[in-house]
Amino acid sequence: MPSSQPSQPPDPATTPPWRLLLAYVRPHRWTLLLGAVLSLLTGAAGLALPLVARSLIDDLGHDRAIAGTLLIMSGLVVANAAIGALGSYVLRYTAESVVLGARRGLVSHLLRLRIAAVDRSEPGDLMARITSDTTLLREVTTDSLVGLGTGGLTLVATLALMGFVDPVLTAVTLGVVVCAGTVIGVIVPRINRASRRAQDAVGAMGASLERTLGALRTIKASGAEHREERAVHAAAEESWRQSVRAAKWSALAGNTAGLSMQIAFITVLAVGGARVATGAVDIGTLVAFLLYVFYLMAPIQQVVGAVAQYQTGSAALARIEEARLLPAEPAAEPAPLPGPGAEPASVAFEDVRFRYADDLPYVHHGVTFTVPPRGMTAFVGPSGAGKTTVFSLIERFYDPDGGTIALDGRDLTEWEVSTLRSAIGYVEQDAPVLSGSLRDNLLLGNPDADEDELLRALKTTRLDTLVDRLPKGVDTLVGHRGTKLSGGERQRVAIARALLRRPRLLLLDEATSQLDAVNEAVLRDTVTDVARTTTVLVVAHRLSTVTMADRIVVMDAGQVRAVGTHRELVAGDPLYAELAATQFLAADDDTRTPEPEPEPQPEPATAAESI
Ligand code: ADP
Ligand code: MG
Repeated sequence: MPSSQPSQPPDPATTPPWRLLLAYVRPHRWTLLLGAVLSLLTGAAGLALPLVARSLIDDLGHDRAIAGTLLIMSGLVVANAAIGALGSYVLRYTAESVVLGARRGLVSHLLRLRIAAVDRSEPGDLMARITSDTTLLREVTTDSLVGLGTGGLTLVATLALMGFVDPVLTAVTLGVVVCAGTVIGVIVPRINRASRRAQDAVGAMGASLERTLGALRTIKASGAEHREERAVHAAAEESWRQSVRAAKWSALAGNTAGLSMQIAFITVLAVGGARVATGAVDIGTLVAFLLYVFYLMAPIQQVVGAVAQYQTGSAALARIEEARLLPAEPAAEPAPLPGPGAEPASVAFEDVRFRYADDLPYVHHGVTFTVPPRGMTAFVGPSGAGKTTVFSLIERFYDPDGGTIALDGRDLTEWEVSTLRSAIGYVEQDAPVLSGSLRDNLLLGNPDADEDELLRALKTTRLDTLVDRLPKGVDTLVGHRGTKLSGGERQRVAIARALLRRPRLLLLDEATSQLDAVNEAVLRDTVTDVARTTTVLVVAHRLSTVTMADRIVVMDAGQVRAVGTHRELVAGDPLYAELAATQFLAADDDTRTPEPEPEPQPEPATAAESI
């Protein structure tokens, strides 16, 4: 089995579609060649028939026995059918392999896309490129490549044989074919344009659908079904319109070819009849020639079909190539997890400047802080300050535009991305849960964790009671994006998933925001416990978490305003003091906080009281 990965084309941006196609076909060139040869053999067997027919007529005319000739004819017909069937199977097999190769290549690429590229793409459209566009390669491989090859060869061979039978009639036929070819040449580019638009519309439909189905509750709650329906319908109709347009041009091209052959047939009949009358050719020759004209039909249809199909295929190829050109991370072997007892990590940001795209404002304007190994560091600051962005940069979802980020004193760019990420457990702000079972979700970050570890993680995140309640325990399906779980449960699943990795660096982004007070307190203890052996960074939303932190990094508008303990910051940083006094205080009144909030001094007795 040849490798299904297409080889990398040299410079895909400027590579013409046929070279891209050849790159996909190259791994399967031998099977393709076999299929093509078998098709050619069928064609050749077919071509021999008129000659045999001529000798049959000859034999009849001269009262010779025809049994041998008839036998040869039947043999040819049977061989033709058998080889034809085998040939079309081999070709279809190859075409499916080309589609598989394209799909595998594209999926591997898309899974490694840089997050910045994902931000710019519509997942639904990318999905359409993998499912729908690659399918079009099937036809382009068989119909187009092979059709052009075998059809072209058969065409040339047939014309040569025709020339051998009668050059004058061949010239007549050629004249008609050239006229038809010119018309088809004008039609063909229109097929390409329409196909491209049709496939783009399929992509738009995928994007629309993904947007709608991915947020169906919101759409229903907003009463927006009709508007969304219109958007998806519009994309579907556009694809229909363009496909119909492509079909129209294809049909026209095919019919022009068919018509030209009819014209050739009639012309040959007329000119040939005249030549028979003058005695220039005998009747057997005319019959043979007419049979050739008849046989010319198939290869010509094949070539025209190939050219038309190639236009559709190259539109799809262009869309596949666009996706393959999106920047991706280098493919690497999955790195082993650090395992128990691994040293906790240190993190350092040094004057980091970052923006999400060249046309967007800077989100980090020189962020600097250091986090030593072990202990808990809390990030606080107003929403939009750039806290989540800090975590994204540590995970190397993005690269900073200036400054350096180091883990264990080593610049992130010197780390292999998979090794870097294997050291980290990350609980994202919206605690994503994937469709599948609870177990799948928990083991996502560490598929090798054993049952004991799993149970322990469930216990520490207080998911054990939930699991006991569920009909199938940890094997219960959680629904698309975990919709069958509550927000707090999703957060705990995400935390358990991160803990199971036994990371050297744990990133928690408002990971307990949706928990009730009891569960929150339990998880706070868990995290405090983890922080004894691991470096923990938390984006905190509750004072209780912040006051337990070893250090607090106060961020505002893409900069670090201050770093210190709760007590230092309340005294020294007005923004922190304000945040602490309003946002945090309202949420919690935890008695275990080592640094109790400075109570507002009682007002001096009011006039009313003193009366
Ligand atoms: P925080 O977590 O402190 O609330 P974030 O780090 O999430 O803030 O975001 C900081 C800023 O960056 C915000 O203004 C937000 O709009 C912007 N931002 C966040 N993610 C992206 C993204 N993927 N593309 C473009 N802008 C983004
Ligand atoms: Mg955030």
